[in-house]
Formats: sequence, C-alpha cells, structure tokens
Amino acid sequence: MKKTLYLKFVLAYFIFGVFAFIIVTTFVPSMTEEHLVREKAKNLYYEAMLVAENYASGLYTSENSLEEVKTQLDSLAIYLESVICIINPSGRLVLDTSSPINVEDVVMIENFDPTVTRGSYYTVDKFFGNYETDMLSVFAPITSNYKVKGYVVILCDMTNIRESCNNLLRISYITLVILLLLSGIILIFFTEMVYMPLRKITYATEQYASGNMHYEFQVESEDEIGYLAVCLNYMASEIARAEDNQKKFVANVSHDFRSPLTSIHGYLEAMLDGTIPPEAYEKYLNILLNETDRLTKLTNSLLTLNNLNTRGMILNKSDFDINQVIRRTAATFEGICRQKTIAIEVILSGDKMYVYADMEKIQQVLYNLLDNAIKFSHHNSVIKIETSEKKNKLFVSVKDTGIGIPKDDLKLIWDRFYKSDLSRGKDKKGTGLGLSIVKEIINTHGEHINVISTEGAGSEFIFSLQQSADNDEEDL
Ligand code: ADP
Repeated sequence: MKKTLYLKFVLAYFIFGVFAFIIVTTFVPSMTEEHLVREKAKNLYYEAMLVAENYASGLYTSENSLEEVKTQLDSLAIYLESVICIINPSGRLVLDTSSPINVEDVVMIENFDPTVTRGSYYTVDKFFGNYETDMLSVFAPITSNYKVKGYVVILCDMTNIRESCNNLLRISYITLVILLLLSGIILIFFTEMVYMPLRKITYATEQYASGNMHYEFQVESEDEIGYLAVCLNYMASEIARAEDNQKKFVANVSHDFRSPLTSIHGYLEAMLDGTIPPEAYEKYLNILLNETDRLTKLTNSLLTLNNLNTRGMILNKSDFDINQVIRRTAATFEGICRQKTIAIEVILSGDKMYVYADMEKIQQVLYNLLDNAIKFSHHNSVIKIETSEKKNKLFVSVKDTGIGIPKDDLKLIWDRFYKSDLSRGKDKKGTGLGLSIVKEIINTHGEHINVISTEGAGSEFIFSLQQSADNDEEDL
C-alpha cells in the first residue's frame, strides 16, 4: 500500500491518542489517590495532634472523665467522617467513638504497633486485622511528663477516599476525551491546509511530468505551500511559453527559408523552360542574387542568435574607443546613404571615448540599429548618432525621422521574427531578427536598451555602455 502523508499523520494521531489514554489510565489514578490520601492524612494528623493535646492527655492526668472526652470525640468523629480511638501503648483500647464505653470489657488490639507508619504519620491497611476494608489511620502520641501514655488514632475508611478519587478520575477521562476530540481539529486543519494543497501540487507535477505544461491549478493559501503552488504554476507557464516560442520559432524559420527558396526555384525553372527569355536573364539573376542574399543574412542572424543564446557565453571584453567604432560603422553605410540621399550626423562626446565591452558585438549592435534607421527613413532625411556621458556610463543614441513604430508594436519589436505591418512595404529583406540580436548582446553586457518612437515621426534607440577607466587617465 502507498504510504501517503495523510495516512502517516492519521497513524501519528492514533498513536498519540493511545499513549495519552495509557498514561491517563495508568499513572493518573495512582497519583490522584496518593495525593488525596496524603492530604486527608495531613488533615487527620493535625486533628489527632489537637485531640492528643487538648482532650486525651487530660484523661491520663484525670482532668477529664472518660465520658466527657468520648462526648467531645464523638462529635468530632462525625464531623471528620472517621473513627477516633485512644489506645494504650500495650494495645488496650481505652476509647472508641464507634462503640459505647464498656469499662468491664477489656478490648485489646492484637499486635498493636504504633511504629507501623515507619517514618510517616499515616498508614493504609486493615488496622492490625480489625477491619475488613482498607483504612487510613494516623497516630498521634499522648504524652505526659515526657512519657508516651497512649495514642490517638483516627481511622478513615478508604472507600470514601477512593470514591472521591474516582470522581476526580472521571473528570480527567472526560477532559482526555474532549482533548482528543479537539486535537481532531488539527487533523482537519492538516487535511485542509496541507494535505489537500499538496495533493493538488502532486497532481499538477504529474501532469507537467507527462508533458501537459498548460495544466493550471490554484491553491488558495498565502503560506509557503501557496507560494510553492504559485512558483510551480509560473514555472510550468514559462516552460509552456518557451515550448510555444520554440514552435513559433521553427515555423517562422521554415517560412522565412521557404519563400526565397520558392522564388529562386520558380525563376530558375522559368529560365530553364524558356519562359524567361535569355535577354531578360540579367534582371532575374539580380532578383535571384537578392534572394540568396536574404537567405545568407537569415542564416547569419540565426547563427549569431544561437551563439548569443548559448549559456555561459564568454564576451571578449576589452577597452576600445567607441567613437572610432561609430565612425567606422557609419562609413560602411555610405553607399546606401548616397543612394537614398540620407545624411548621417555623428555627435560624439569627446574625441575619444573608451568603453569596456565586446567590440565586435557592439559593432554588430550599431550596424543593426543603423541598418534599421536607414531602411525605415525617408529620402533626404538625417540620421543622428549621438553619445552622452552620465556617471560612469556612456549612452549611445541612434535617431531617425522615418516611419516610426506604432505604440502597440513597441514591446514586440524585440521578439524574434517580429516585423511591424508598417515596415513590410519598406523592407522586404528584413528577417525580424536584428533587434533580438541587439537586445541579447546589450543584456549579456549587463546593460540596457530603450526605444522612443512616434508613428510617422521617427524612432530613437538608446543603449548604455560601461565607460572604461582609461577615460579618467586620459583626462589627467
Ligand atoms: P529586421 O531585420 O526585419 O529589420 P528587426 O528585428 O531589426 O528586424 O526589426 C524588427 C521590426 O522593428 C522591424 O520590422 C520594424 O517593424 C521595426 N523597426 C526596427 N527599427 C525601426 C526603425 N528605426 N524605424 C521604424 N521601425 C523599426
């Protein structure tokens, strides 16, 4: 049988109940009886001492008559619900409140021994065989002239004490049952607060293990178990999202590869079967070249992204002059800028500005941002590359006055393969991977990139870089 947590808890509860019952039924009765006997004996002994001092000693000095003492002791015995005896050291019964005075008949207590209490002031027995049931007896010596003349013995039937003991025990048993029932609340609490949520969590993990990452569950609790459930739910949703992204990614890659391949295949077939005449070859070969360019760009971007995504990617960081990299990158776009009559304005803080980063990757960032800025700019416009310092950071901004990005698209442009509808007309070669690469590189550097854009007015991309210590040395 599967040992569930619940079963273990119920078992522990049961063991607790059994032990509590055993302890209460074995130790508590003897302890209670002992306590009651001791208390009763203490009271009786105190009374016996009073009797020995105030009444009984007068008997031996002939100050009080036997009748007088008996009358007094009779009422005291009724009050104490016990029998009071005066016994000589020899064992002769002088007075007994349970029977009338009979001076002729000498009653002897066989084997009377006042030392029977052995260090204590009371004893529980059949009082030298004179009683059928157990009696609690206390002994107080009667002294006169420093001699023990006799003993005041007060005897109390143990049946009465045991009855009150049983009454007390009954209360203990009822308390025990109530406590056991109340502790059942812990069981209910455990079931509701721990066991049921744990079952939900276990079931959910089984679902996740079997691949159903979209399984959702709820645990209405704000404690650690609730937190665990939330974390598990979040983990599953993240894995599900990653899986969906993976699928989307593969679908996008296949789609982006298929369309240029289809057009290449189509044009080549048309050339071979003569649909395209040889005099038109140049035009179509240029189209084919464009398509292969697109495929190369796509493959390169995918490879770059894949490298960047590899965990533990080591950045080849060094101190380099970002101003030089900016100028160099801007220069590579000279041709296309001339075609579109676009001017690139470079406003740099200082002649040289050293940053600590991976030069090649930052160059790629600048390249992608400039490439986009040019692609989405109108003819006869200006693109500004500007740097500014703040504390030990350097901010690089690439700003254009092109088509801009719709507000709803701003969050999505960093996603792989995302191309806004607005851009499709302007950019047929785009892969939608450029900005993903940019973000990945900047984030790997532990820096940030932001975009400010207004549809129809233009866009500005700003990213931060760590300034290198060399700048301070140059300043000195
Ligand atoms: P692509 O290689 O297709 O340009 P990117 O990831 O670089 O892909 O860009 C994603 C999308 O973000 C583009 O398709 C375009 O819609 C939008 N975008 C990026 N840069 C700009 C910009 N400077 N101006 C307007 N839209 C832009």
